[in-house]
Amino acid sequence: MSDAAPDPLRTDVPGNFIRSVIDEDLRLGKHAGRRWNGEPGPAPQHRDALPDPAAVRTRFPPEPNGYLHIGHAKSICLNFGLARDYGGRCHLRFDDTNPEKEEQEYVDAIVDAVHWLGFDWKDEVEDNLYYASDYFGHFYRMAEWLIEAGHAYVDSQSAEEIRASRGTLTEAGSDSPFRDRPPAESLRLLGEMREGRHAEGTQVLRAKIDMASPNMNLRDPVLYRIRFAAHHRTGEQWCIYPMYDYAHPLEDALENITHSLCTLEFEDHRPLYDWLLERLAEGGFFDRPLPQQIEFARLNLTYSITSKRKLQELVREGHVDGWDDPRMTTIAGLRRRGYTPEAIRLFCDRIGVAKANSWVEMGALEQALRDDLEGKAPRAVAVLDPLKLVITNWPEGTSEPCEAPAHPQHPELGVRRFPFARELWIERADFAETPPKGFFRLFPGNRVRLRYGYVVQCTGFEKDDDGRVVAVHAEVLKDSKSGTPGSEAYKVKGNLHWVAAEAALDAEVRLYDRLFFQPHPDAGGRDFREALNANSKRVVRVKLEPSLAAAAPEARYQFERHGYFVADRLDSRPGQPVFNLAVSLKDSWGGKSK
Ligand code: ATP
Ligand code: MG
Repeated sequence: MSDAAPDPLRTDVPGNFIRSVIDEDLRLGKHAGRRWNGEPGPAPQHRDALPDPAAVRTRFPPEPNGYLHIGHAKSICLNFGLARDYGGRCHLRFDDTNPEKEEQEYVDAIVDAVHWLGFDWKDEVEDNLYYASDYFGHFYRMAEWLIEAGHAYVDSQSAEEIRASRGTLTEAGSDSPFRDRPPAESLRLLGEMREGRHAEGTQVLRAKIDMASPNMNLRDPVLYRIRFAAHHRTGEQWCIYPMYDYAHPLEDALENITHSLCTLEFEDHRPLYDWLLERLAEGGFFDRPLPQQIEFARLNLTYSITSKRKLQELVREGHVDGWDDPRMTTIAGLRRRGYTPEAIRLFCDRIGVAKANSWVEMGALEQALRDDLEGKAPRAVAVLDPLKLVITNWPEGTSEPCEAPAHPQHPELGVRRFPFARELWIERADFAETPPKGFFRLFPGNRVRLRYGYVVQCTGFEKDDDGRVVAVHAEVLKDSKSGTPGSEAYKVKGNLHWVAAEAALDAEVRLYDRLFFQPHPDAGGRDFREALNANSKRVVRVKLEPSLAAAAPEARYQFERHGYFVADRLDSRPGQPVFNLAVSLKDSWGGKSK
C-alpha cells in the first residue's frame, strides 16, 4: 500500500535532502551577505540594514480558507523545525491573495493550531507573522515595472480565448493578439483595471515568456485578474488580485526567505518562480541570492483526507460535527481527539521528508500517540459496557478502601483510591455463561482477580425475562486482597477491572473509529462520501472510577485494558467530564485484536 513506508519505530530526526541543501548553502556561505531591516520589503529597504541574524529563513504559508490538517502539520514541523535547528527563523505567512474564500475565522484557527503544535514565529527580537495582502502595493509596483521592461502585458482576450490559445502538452500555444501592445498601453489598462473600470474577465495581466515552452506554466501565465470581491483584510481597496504563481515568489523574496519549501505539485512551477525573481532582481527589487524553491512529497495518510476543500465538504454536508470533530484529521480535530502536540511532532519526525509521493499508514499516526502517552498518561478505570457483579458474601453497607498507582512506572504521580463493596460494575464481555475455549475471565466456578482488589469466585448469575444476563454473583476470598501478605498465593489467569457501584461516576464516552472504511477514500476519483464509515462514532454511558470526576478538560488517561481517552475540551463540565477515545491500546485494524 505504501511505496516507501517509513520505519514506524524510528525515533531519530532523520537527515534529509533538504537538510543537505541547507548544509551545503551554509558551508558555502551562500546567504551570509543578506541584510534584514526587520520588515518585509524590496531589497533597497534592506541594503543599509544589519546582516540578517537568521542563518536561514523558512516560512509556513497557509491560505486561510479552511482549518489546517495533518498534511499541514508536516509542513509546519518541517519549516519551523529547520529554522529551529539551523538558528534561523520561520515566518507564519497568511497567503491571503484570494478574496472569496478567506475568512478571519480561519486565520484565528491557524494561529491556534501552529501555537498548539509548539511553534512560534515570535521571539525577543522578531515577530514574523505576515499577510500576503500587506504586499499588494509591492506586487502592483513590480507588475508595472514588468510591463515597462517588456516582461508583461495586459491581455484583452476572454478567459475562453486565452485557454484556447494555450496549446497542449504536445502543441505550442499561439501568441495573443495583444502580446505586442506598447507597454504604455498595458500600463494604462492595468491602471484602469485597478480603478475598477473594466469588468471581471475582460482583461488580465500576463507575463511575456514563451508560448511555445514545453512547460505550460511558462506560456505567458496570468499574473493578475479582476475580481470585484471584498477581501477579509483589505476590504474593497483592490479589485485586481495577483495569481498564486505571481504572488508567492514575491512574498518569499520580500521576506528574505532562503529556502521556500513546497509540495511536489509545484515542481513545474519552479521555472516561473525563478523567472519572476530573476526579472525583478534585474529591476533592482531584489538582491541575489534569491529564495530557492525546494519541493518535497506531500503527506497522504490512509483512511483520511488531506484536502481543505474536501474537509470543508464533510463539515458543510454534516457528515461530521464541525472542523474539530474528533474523527477529522484536522489539527483541531486531532487535538479534540486527544492527540498531543508531542505525538504529532513525533509522527512528523518519523515519516521524514522524501522526494516521492507515497501513503503513510494511519497506524503510524496512532502509534505515535500511544508511544507518547504510554509513559505519561495516568491510568484509570472505565467500565464501558457495565454489568453488575454482586459479591454475595460481602456485608451490605460496608466498603473497603483500595489503592492503585496512578502510573505503574511513575510512583511520583501518586496513587488513586477507590472502594471495594458488595456491588460492583464489570465489563459485560468479561463474563460468559458458558466460556469459549481459552476464556479465563468470569464464568460459573472460575476465579479471577479484581485488579487492586480481591480474588473472587463466580457462583452464578441472574437473567431477565428476555434471557439477558443482568447480574453475576461471586464470593470474595477474604485473604486475597492485592498487596496484602499471602495474596500472591492465589494464582488466577483473569485480571479484571471494575468499579464499585456506590462510588462510580456515570459519564458519557464517545467511542470513535476511523471516519472512512477505505484506506484511500478519495483515490482514483472516487467520491469520498462513498467511503464514509457509518459506525465511526458511538456514544455510550459508562461507569468511571470516582477520581475521574476531577479530570480537567484535555486531561488524558489510559483506561486500563481499553486505550487512551481524553476529557473533551469543550463538552466536559466541572465534576462531569465527557471522554473521547483517542486511540485503543493496540492496533485493531491491522488484523490484531485487543
Ligand atoms: P489544501 O489542498 O488542503 O487546501 P494547500 O496546499 O492548498 O492544501 P495551503 O494553505 O496552501 O494548502 O498550504 C500551506 C502549506 O502547507 C503549503 O506550503 C503546502 O505545501 C503545505 N501542505 C499542504 N498540504 C500538505 C500535505 N498534505 N503534506 C505536506 N504539506 C502540505
Ligand atoms: Mg492551496
